[in-house]
Amino acid sequence: MKRKALNIALSGVLLSSGVVLGTGVNSVSADGPNYNGNETIQNERLHSYSEMVKLLERVDQQSENLTLEVYGQSVKDRDLYLAKFGENEENPTILFLTQQHGNETLTTEAALKMIQYLSTNSKEVQNILENVNVLIAPRLNVDGAEGDVNFPLDDYVSGTHTRYNANGVDLNRDHVDREQPETKALHENVLQKYSPDYMIDLHHQGTQVTKGEDGPLVSGSILYPTNETVDSEVLEGSKKLGAVVYDAVESKGYGTLSKYPGGTANTISRNGLANEYGISTLLFEMRGMADHYREDYVLGQKSNGYLIQQGVVTMKAALKAIADDSIEDADTSFWDTLTQSYYHGEE
Ligand SMILES: [Zn+2]
Repeated sequence: MKRKALNIALSGVLLSSGVVLGTGVNSVSADGPNYNGNETIQNERLHSYSEMVKLLERVDQQSENLTLEVYGQSVKDRDLYLAKFGENEENPTILFLTQQHGNETLTTEAALKMIQYLSTNSKEVQNILENVNVLIAPRLNVDGAEGDVNFPLDDYVSGTHTRYNANGVDLNRDHVDREQPETKALHENVLQKYSPDYMIDLHHQGTQVTKGEDGPLVSGSILYPTNETVDSEVLEGSKKLGAVVYDAVESKGYGTLSKYPGGTANTISRNGLANEYGISTLLFEMRGMADHYREDYVLGQKSNGYLIQQGVVTMKAALKAIADDSIEDADTSFWDTLTQSYYHGEE
């Protein structure tokens, strides 16, 4: 914690004195250190598939709150898990989806923490689960996350995780045709079966995203559905969900959010699920990836702590606001002035 605070303070000085960030071996960045091309990436600190399954099964045995379901299998025949909390038809339902892209790992680490949190019997959790049905689908791309794919990862920085599924398909461009078993299972056995009202789709982006061209590095970026055919009430729900998350994350010392410059295609879940099922969706892109063939996308492990926490803060804020209905009063006007992301990496 002390080191993080120091980094933020230092980077403020560097920024105000006009020194360019991201150059030199000992560069200091606004949101903690990132990969400098001269260190080992320690992705073994993350939950492997078998470790994730072990955790889910242990929590399932220990907690009455959790119902664990297998909703399908991946290309390489790994089971896909859904953690369910509450099934009251009177209550709204939210889905947290993580790791459609296998190299965007801390989203799942945060989801596993949420699953453990919701399996406790605290007053806070009881209050949430009396008022909200929670679905958590951690790690849709289980094969890409294991690096168990039908193409080589020789040019990747770490060679352990990839964006694509085993067939080399981007699952977050497969939400219309659903040609891959992972997306097909998600649609048929989660989305169509449980009809969520809200969804937060958690991802990671490159490491060098700033708030506008001259602003600080961001800890994350958010966006609502941008397809023009999305129902206006669904869109308003998305913007309110975004307002709740924005307020919660920005109130943290590490929290700096920009508006993600996303496209309008329905093949992307943020758009497609809002359009097809009327789900109020929010995209949350956290900083940096576990692995990539582009060095400027890889963050390394040194910032894992606060980024996982950012995911937890995001999900908890959404649950509390839906549980006490305060989401209905969320002020969406911040979207009109939220600064767009700017990317400083190589083209
Ligand atoms: Zn992604």
